Amino acid sequence: MISLKDVHKSFGDLEVLKGITFDVMKGEVICIIGPSGSGKSTLIRCINALNDIQRGSITVEGQEVHDPNLDKLELRKKVGMVFQQYNLFPHKTALENVMMAPLLVLKQAKADVEQRARRLMKKVRLEGKENFYPGELSGGQQQRVAIARSLAMNPDVMLFDEVTAALDPETVKEVLVTIKELAAEGMTCILVTHEMGFAREVADHIYFTDRGVIVEHGPPATFFTEASDPRTQEFLSQIL
Ligand code: ADP
Ligand code: MG
Repeated sequence: MISLKDVHKSFGDLEVLKGITFDVMKGEVICIIGPSGSGKSTLIRCINALNDIQRGSITVEGQEVHDPNLDKLELRKKVGMVFQQYNLFPHKTALENVMMAPLLVLKQAKADVEQRARRLMKKVRLEGKENFYPGELSGGQQQRVAIARSLAMNPDVMLFDEVTAALDPETVKEVLVTIKELAAEGMTCILVTHEMGFAREVADHIYFTDRGVIVEHGPPATFFTEASDPRTQEFLSQIL
């Protein structure tokens, strides 16, 4: 479904991605871990063309993401993204936040959009909070609204960039449960995360990045026990 080949990305003189190659199959859950500043956010932002690239190729369902003729809106309908900061519209209710893109971008009929938004609110376990404003919700609840908002575009793949990093420990779990349920339903997911327990349980494949390269990768069963590169070992020893 997604294929990265020798992806290079620089900001000015700073080369942040130095040849990243991997494939993601439909329905797979991929976790990307690694030290701060190693290029994880840059990498997943390249997948939905929020960042351009200097070399290599990224395809989503066979389409080259960095083709200048590509319709970015079409790409972003297929590739949903959720960030550490939820970025909800503060003066819109939770339900309105979820309804907004299908109404304004897809120009779908309001009654259909509302019905789907209500279903999505239920799916992220926020039934009853439809009319709450973001400021009246906990961080974990706001993040689940952000996930529902992304799902409202009916994406084929979801990108999650450290979506639990800003949350209180007790609300981290409810967000992870939501993502786990999505994964179980077959949603293709690429997650940047520091939640190793989650990665171990849910990931099909884990990639460890450092300084713009993939240092080590494997399925969780071997990744955590057989990581041999000293950088991976040091990172895991700090985090586990
Ligand atoms: P991570 O998500 O792994 O912490 P990032 O992808 O955010 O790492 O950042 C990797 C490097 O790229 C960092 O050195 C960061 O300062 C730099 N960087 C990220 N975004 C930009 C940008 N828009 N302009 C310049 N440098 C950037
Ligand atoms: Mg980051």
